[in-house]
Amino acid sequence: MVEAFAVASGKGGTGKTTSTLALGMALAADYDVTVIDADTGMANLLFHAGLDDVEITLHDLLLTDCDLPASAAVYDRFGMSVVPCGTSLADFEAADPTVLRDVVADLAADTDVLLLDSPAALGSKSAVLPIVLADRIVIILQPTVPSLSDGLKVQEYARAYGTVTGGVIFNRVRQDEDVATIAEQATRYFDGRTLATVPESDAVRMARRVGKPLLAHAPETTAASAFRSAAATLDIHD
Ligand code: ADP
Ligand code: MG
Repeated sequence: MVEAFAVASGKGGTGKTTSTLALGMALAADYDVTVIDADTGMANLLFHAGLDDVEITLHDLLLTDCDLPASAAVYDRFGMSVVPCGTSLADFEAADPTVLRDVVADLAADTDVLLLDSPAALGSKSAVLPIVLADRIVIILQPTVPSLSDGLKVQEYARAYGTVTGGVIFNRVRQDEDVATIAEQATRYFDGRTLATVPESDAVRMARRVGKPLLAHAPETTAASAFRSAAATLDIHD
């Protein structure tokens, strides 16, 4: 049976898209993985995955009169099935975000793990749909009090819809930060485990610039290992 994860956070820029692709590539070693850019208003997974020149994207599937199968927007990249979303504001406005439910149902039939790169914040019903559709959320936090506070709201919201916390990833952790205290705080406040603490890393920045997921661009880095162990800790059902 498919397991669907929403990769979520309270604010933008915490590393959701980076983490979605890194977890996806790590899990793709053992499972059929489908990654969907469900951040339909601020989509940018296409830039992280070298898919900025494709024609059909999630936006097309979300048109109410769309007669394409969901597979029309699936691209095989880096060992995963990737569904990018376009960046046009007009296409975003024309799309019906609630159709995501049907797209997810279609794609779930053909995959073991579905990762939904989710919008930041809880601003509208459509922004939270990925969290509602997922079985578990992975919350991407930065090691700061405001980020923890935002993450807790996301957890509370998800809980109300029966979506459990699969774990938290602390991203962009600088060397001078007290990782033990961060992990202790996470254990206290969040339901799932701390899956990883990922360092602030030039390789992560560069990966995005060259349009490759971190695990394809720099698989030997500490950041890449952290994401691999996070993926292993997720305990996917067989
Ligand atoms: P989000 O999807 O949450 O908005 P992104 O994954 O797009 O965040 O990351 C935002 C920016 O931060 C990107 O330019 C990305 O390359 C950079 N970034 C993310 N994680 C790290 C990290 N661990 N070290 C350095 N840069 C990072
Ligand atoms: Mg993003």
